[in-house]
Amino acid sequence: MMKSYNGSCHCGTVRFEVVTDTNHSVICNCSICKRRNTVMLRCNEQDLRIISGRDELTLYRFNTMVAEHYFCQKCGIYTFHKMRKAPDKYAVNAGCLEGVDPYGLQPASIRGSAK
Ligand SMILES: [Zn+2]
Repeated sequence: MMKSYNGSCHCGTVRFEVVTDTNHSVICNCSICKRRNTVMLRCNEQDLRIISGRDELTLYRFNTMVAEHYFCQKCGIYTFHKMRKAPDKYAVNAGCLEGVDPYGLQPASIRGSAK
């Protein structure tokens, strides 16, 4: 079920609101996902709203430079990224969302395309 969640990085500088469905979480085995080991939830571009800290977000790109990986430059926490295969969608760090236990989710494994 689609629901609205408040999200933040660890230090609280970056705050956002997202509409997503916790029944459809994913983990991915690409080179960046296996390093950050994060359960992710997907949302449409228009369903992610950054409330504060936009200027503190750092953009990281690699390989094809298409996906946009964002993290807080103060606490280093990955908050969300714009997906390469679906540029109109974001994947959000489930651990950043209030009221969501990322370890209680049952993520599907997706094969990463980014090497
Ligand atoms: Zn932070």
